[in-house]
Amino acid sequence: MIAPPPLRDDCFALPPGVDWLSVEFALELLRNAMRPKVATMCVDLGVATGRILAEDITASENSPPHANSAIDGYGYLGVQSEDRDVICLSLMQGRAAAGHPFGTPVPEGYAVKVLTGAILPEGVDTVVMQEDVSADSHEIAFRGPLKAGKNTRSVGEDIQTGQVLFGKGRKIRTSDLAVLASVGISQVTVYQPLRVGILSTGDELIEPGEQAQVGQIYDANRPMLIGQMMQLGYDVLDMGRADDDAQSLRFILNSAADRCDALITTGGASAGEEDHMSALLRDSGSLEMWRIAVKPGRPMAMGLWSGLPVFGLPGNPVAAMVCALVFTQPALRTLAGGTWKMPQSFDVAAAFEKSKKPGRREYLRARIRKGCAEVFRSEGSGRITGLSWAEGLVELAEPAHDVKIGDKVRYIPFSEF
Ligand code: AMP
Ligand code: MG
Repeated sequence: MIAPPPLRDDCFALPPGVDWLSVEFALELLRNAMRPKVATMCVDLGVATGRILAEDITASENSPPHANSAIDGYGYLGVQSEDRDVICLSLMQGRAAAGHPFGTPVPEGYAVKVLTGAILPEGVDTVVMQEDVSADSHEIAFRGPLKAGKNTRSVGEDIQTGQVLFGKGRKIRTSDLAVLASVGISQVTVYQPLRVGILSTGDELIEPGEQAQVGQIYDANRPMLIGQMMQLGYDVLDMGRADDDAQSLRFILNSAADRCDALITTGGASAGEEDHMSALLRDSGSLEMWRIAVKPGRPMAMGLWSGLPVFGLPGNPVAAMVCALVFTQPALRTLAGGTWKMPQSFDVAAAFEKSKKPGRREYLRARIRKGCAEVFRSEGSGRITGLSWAEGLVELAEPAHDVKIGDKVRYIPFSEF
């Protein structure tokens, strides 16, 4: 349970001469910079959903372990029914049921009652469906031809001994638990949950529930990001709010460095006089201002504070959410031990028109209705309600675009990030 080595000091460093980053390039930098930051632990399958595998998992058994019947019916040797119109077989006494093997071989000319999941007795490789059979206590008859092997499951047809079931870095899904259990695996080695701190900055911010004075606004980013990160399965630490004041920010950053594996901050990340996050990181940590050619989004302040990776997102809630989805989420996934993963997107017809200037990549709040992508009526980055209206983002690439209704645009559901 030993923790992996720290990130490189210059992990967020930009190559010399780079001022503006394309989204593509920023993601490539993150991909190369990020490493798993958490130790591993062993967990029972019951609590493994959403955890990230820290090892490849190989099957040490076949599934199914024995050839068995896929239906309720009568089992026999299949060559007897391959090219005959009517098949009559003597019926053996007894039956094979799931968990109750028949035990004795079935000779040619004979059939035996088998139930779904029963191991095929020796001499049986084919099962005819119960409903297709006339039977009395001594014999059965049914119409052919019926191919040998019909209605059976062969040994190892789903999983073979030695097969790699899941690779290190996979985020375990509920269906994976069935796969693992089907070959007798009861525990897996996973990464400990990444501890992600969430911090808001800004003198104007107050808590929802408090009485707002003139000039104050409620902190909308923190609940959103806390929820977002909890949904991703991280251990979220609410680091509260920091004033626009270097001293209090320093105190919180120090505390975050003790308690978190990664920190997401919003606000104060630009180069203005009240942008203390970037100023502090510049003075005492390692700051890299990432000016990414993306809309919405202002510079992201990336840095290490005593080894703690800090993702300084723009304060504007819309920009904060888009940057968290596009940049922070893939980075955190890697810090958490997961494989680097880009969201799956879909080309769908646009239900909107838009003329886009060249230069930046744009993300529009969007959703699919009647098979087409709609976008929120306002692109205003202060329009928080558009985030709730939307179910995903339309991604418009860097070149200029004149999107007409019916043109194909790229849509990414929120769940894909
Ligand atoms: P900043 O990046 O600090 O310059 O903030 C940009 C804009 O986002 C300003 O209008 C801030 O008031 C607003 N803002 C910053 N943080 C938050 C927050 N946590 N919740 C809502 N609005 C915010
Ligand atoms: Mg601010």
